[in-house]
Amino acid sequence: MSQAPKAPSVLDQYPEESRESADLLKQAVPLMMRHQIAPNPVHYALWYTYSQGSNPDLNRRLDKIVGDFDVFPPETALKLFREHIICNELEEARVNQQQVIELVDDIEGDVARSVEGSTAYNESLIFGLQALRDPQDENLPNVLTELHESTQQMQAQQEKFLYRLRTAQTEIQHLRTQLDRAHMAATLDHLTQIFNRNAFTHLLSKALKSDYRGLALVMMDIDHFKNFNDQYGHPLGDRVLQHVGQLLRDLLPPRAMAARYGGEEFCVIMRDCHDLQTAHAFAERLRLKIQALRVKVRSTDKVIDSITASFGLALAQAGDDPEGLITRADDQLYKAKHSGRNQVHPPASSAALSA
Ligand code: GH3
Ligand code: MG
Ligand code: MG
Repeated sequence: MSQAPKAPSVLDQYPEESRESADLLKQAVPLMMRHQIAPNPVHYALWYTYSQGSNPDLNRRLDKIVGDFDVFPPETALKLFREHIICNELEEARVNQQQVIELVDDIEGDVARSVEGSTAYNESLIFGLQALRDPQDENLPNVLTELHESTQQMQAQQEKFLYRLRTAQTEIQHLRTQLDRAHMAATLDHLTQIFNRNAFTHLLSKALKSDYRGLALVMMDIDHFKNFNDQYGHPLGDRVLQHVGQLLRDLLPPRAMAARYGGEEFCVIMRDCHDLQTAHAFAERLRLKIQALRVKVRSTDKVIDSITASFGLALAQAGDDPEGLITRADDQLYKAKHSGRNQVHPPASSAALSA
């Protein structure tokens, strides 16, 4: 039975369900209030991530900053935002980042005006109170008029600020969508529409850190693909890679993720996979589907039915790092190649599988 295609998403950075993220925001907002941190998108993102606890380095830095300063310096916030929330290397994210920065500048300008207004209002109040204590003060009507004017001014500023905050919500939503897209573009392999190598390495390392149990790695390499390209041309080779990407998306078990590891090499991280038999059954299904692929050479109408792939499997063990697990799966892939290709290793008959 084929699964619905799974599109990669930003789930690795913000995997929470909406209720859970609302809870995280509920933790973040009081923290921001306690440290008198202005409510803007950059600060929300930082303190949300802080509450999430997924980035200990960021938490340490935030703890230090609120410990060292009375106020939260905006330039530091932007620096942390760049380093920890948006990956520096993303060209598209840079554009979004710029938009966020402008939005924040805008809101901060409003906050600053609002603060100035409050200060002036406070001064008028003090002045007014002094005048009231001294009934001889002939200046009293003027003071009261000033007080009235500054109250009106402050009210106008606060209303403007409130309006800006409301507009900001919409803009934040918009930017968030754009950031999601940028993340997608950065984690996706354009040709096959599955994760790219960067995303794979990152997700594997994260998965191993969270729990190695029930984690299996399937490595797959298309057989004699260089010959295929030489014989039928690179564009048709690309089409084969796209078909393989589609098969991976169709056959992927729940909670598994597939990535293009390199040219004609693919990887699948399986979860809830506690034995090699389960991984073997999945790889075998995929192997048969690839073997059944038929592609047509457009110029001659020749149908090619000889596409095959070899597979290597490994189960994660305690203390594994990504490199160790990849090497073990790759060793098995090597054996599959040297035993004649178009097969899965360890083979179904192997003691490793029945262990
Ligand atoms: P083996 O069975 O040992 O894996 O042989 P192979 O020819 O598949 O392996 P080899 O590593 O010698 O060659 C891999 C080939 O994959 C070489 C390259 O032309 C092809 N390849 C890599 N990336 C792409 C791509 O994006 N598109 C196409 N069409 N071919 C690619
Ligand atoms: Mg290869
Ligand atoms: Mg190959």
